[in-house]
Amino acid sequence: MSEVQEAMARTEIGEERQNALQLAQLQFEAAADHLGLSESLRSIMRSFARVIEVAVSVRRDSGQIETFQGYRVQHSDARGPFKGGIRYHPYVTIDTVKALAMWMTWKCALVNIPFGGAKGGVVCDPSQMSQSEIERITRRYTSMIQPNIGPDRDIPAPDVNTNAQVMSWILDTYSENIGHRALGCVTGKPVALGGTLGREGATSQGLSDIITLAVKHLKMDLKDLRIVIQGFGNVGSNLAVICHRLGCRVIGVSDVYGAIVNREGLDVPALMRHVAEAGRVCGFPGAEEIERDDLLEIECEVLAPCALGGAINRMNAERINTRILVEGANGPTTTVGDAILREKGVFVLPDILANAGGVTVSYFEWVQGLQSFFWTEAEVNDRLRTIMEAAFSETVQTAAKGKLSLRTAAHVIGVRRVADALMRLGLYP
Ligand code: GLU
Repeated sequence: MSEVQEAMARTEIGEERQNALQLAQLQFEAAADHLGLSESLRSIMRSFARVIEVAVSVRRDSGQIETFQGYRVQHSDARGPFKGGIRYHPYVTIDTVKALAMWMTWKCALVNIPFGGAKGGVVCDPSQMSQSEIERITRRYTSMIQPNIGPDRDIPAPDVNTNAQVMSWILDTYSENIGHRALGCVTGKPVALGGTLGREGATSQGLSDIITLAVKHLKMDLKDLRIVIQGFGNVGSNLAVICHRLGCRVIGVSDVYGAIVNREGLDVPALMRHVAEAGRVCGFPGAEEIERDDLLEIECEVLAPCALGGAINRMNAERINTRILVEGANGPTTTVGDAILREKGVFVLPDILANAGGVTVSYFEWVQGLQSFFWTEAEVNDRLRTIMEAAFSETVQTAAKGKLSLRTAAHVIGVRRVADALMRLGLYP
């Protein structure tokens, strides 16, 4: 049986968008198999320490009360407080949040920062809500999960459709409820409220560090790179800016509304101005509009999925035409998609490595907030690069030694660190 057939047998054949939790579990089991982990340890690690489900009732601007489903999933705190973002999206499900929480655990362990893993989400569509409605959802949700979060307990951060403004409301709500300002209760805050310089662009900065390392590893040249970016939110747009500054050609980008391409290279600063005005990438002069799904099939050296999970799957992986895949999103490649890419020889830089810059700078922000002592942006970016370099070279070495994909190697490192912590902690009672 080929690897692709095996992957198909392990997942539901015919399913385009694999359940994220199944994807995360299969990735974990592959690493656990390689490490020869006992069933006792696995039973702890594949479970979720705490799963919180809340009904977030808020008053809409119309006066009507509406109730949204909210979740906070805490996967593991074996290595430190739970840590992970909060997303607002209509597609949020308990299984997605669980998968994302588990990935946070391995990600924090891989970059060796003293956090566990968690994730939160509210099932809602922020594009259909006013700022004050989003504020009320945020404050109500924060209050409801408040007993289980805090600087030493569980520290939220931005994720899909949440940003520094949402983090400010979390900070304010949490702080008002305990009677004093607690800078360490959330990361991704604005700098004016005790956030850190460099957090906004941190995920993209980390991605560009990883791209630079991979290019060197593959003996390619940054200047020759054609980059395609799926998703033009915080991660995708900042990645475009950084890559353009590095002298690479960003030739295609997409957002929820559509995709544009210019094989000579997009004028990224002009594109940013266009998006600030138009609210979308389409309509940008000097680029051709294409079908959104065709973007992933453009011939390029680097493809960066920076949107939602499951983007690269059994339906399209065969037609992906890149040398390097760098996962800005969490879980953008399904099990079958991954096997197809491996067969094609694509150099896949997995999410828990590639996009770890965000949580790494969250860690810096948390440390600075607890000390009320703040660093320069250069200090932040230098320390980030050191961490990304260490994680990249460890992953490459582990892959070579064990004849593993970079994804399984990254998981092996993360899972091993968490297993070590669990064994040293012992079991209470
Ligand atoms: N949401 C980001 C991630 O998936 C950042 C999480 C954080 O900073 O805690 O890694």
